[in-house]
Amino acid sequence: MEDIYSLNRGKLGFGLMRLPKDSSGAIDEKETARMVDLFLEKGFTYFDTAYAYPGSEEILRKTVVERHPRESYTVASKMSGWMLTDELPPERMFAEQLRRTGLEYFDFYLIHSIETQHIPVYEKHRVWDFCSRMKAEGRIRHIGFSFHDTPEMLDGILTEHPEAEFVQLQINYMDWMSPRVQSRNVYETARKHGKPIIIMEPVKGGLLSNLEPSLTKPFGSRTPASMALRFAAGLDGVLAVLSGMSTMEQLKQNIATFSPLEKLSVAEMEAVTTVRESIEKLQMIQCTGCRYCIPECPKSIPIPNIFRAMNESTVRSDSEASRRRYEEVFSDGKSGRPSDCMKCGRCEHTCPQKLPIRKLLEEAAARFE
Ligand code: SF4
Ligand code: SF4
Repeated sequence: MEDIYSLNRGKLGFGLMRLPKDSSGAIDEKETARMVDLFLEKGFTYFDTAYAYPGSEEILRKTVVERHPRESYTVASKMSGWMLTDELPPERMFAEQLRRTGLEYFDFYLIHSIETQHIPVYEKHRVWDFCSRMKAEGRIRHIGFSFHDTPEMLDGILTEHPEAEFVQLQINYMDWMSPRVQSRNVYETARKHGKPIIIMEPVKGGLLSNLEPSLTKPFGSRTPASMALRFAAGLDGVLAVLSGMSTMEQLKQNIATFSPLEKLSVAEMEAVTTVRESIEKLQMIQCTGCRYCIPECPKSIPIPNIFRAMNESTVRSDSEASRRRYEEVFSDGKSGRPSDCMKCGRCEHTCPQKLPIRKLLEEAAARFE
């Protein structure tokens, strides 16, 4: 059997979700190509995309597949289950992905974002069976899945689906001990099953690379991003650490962090703990992201996403980045804004955390709108 770890040279993975944009807002193909070239030149190989990332699979074809030999890189893409319908079954989605990317096979193929709410659609479309079939036909080299749920659920899936060869997990030093994300428990569950791990969100969507300098004094001269990446990449069993790089500067910094990768020393691990505790002391909104409030809201306000953006802006030094992140919450064009709230209180009635949601939404509107 092929050693899956040998497929990724260098642990840094290039996430193709937050690529550089040109002045019209489209993905900047020229700049992306320059970044791709440097990434490969420095000995890295792993590119990560998904059906659901707008324009991402096409830009992979233009900047990687059509410009570099197939053996010089590996590609991971994902079946985004929430987009499957009777008109767009797995066969069609997969065929479209091969066409978009210009590939004959995917080195890594993931069932995208397994969590409670997505299970029925994956079962309905028999996605696991489909992936095994594609593997038998040589269209997939390794099957895996990305995951956002509890350790118990992960344990169940890995027991039920031994065909899963790797898992992609959200791991960073803030979520490591978080009762909501449970990164550590989820990581240990994957290790118990002996599965290689791909790490997503190592800097928590940019939050940990953009901290107030007063918070990161314990890091000394080391950058917050490098400490977060080294925390994630230093864990045993890690196949790749994904970074959604938007600029050449970010790419260069990440390359430096991984060339070569140094595990955090005991003193550096203590510094990480100190920084994490300082962040935890800030008045963050204690939303657990359970989403019970969502179906209650007549204005379709994405309450937990707004609270997440507010929490990020509390600890970020870059207010423009915070504002952009906040605007991303509404990028589907359908979600209501805090200023749309009609104060009916239905959300507060269902919130198990008893959060004063209406008041917090007022604060969000005042801060960002
Ligand atoms: S109070 Fe506002 S946020 Fe809550 S359910 Fe009503 S409209 Fe939605
Ligand atoms: S119900 Fe409360 S804790 Fe759950 S997502 Fe909504 S605001 Fe957050």
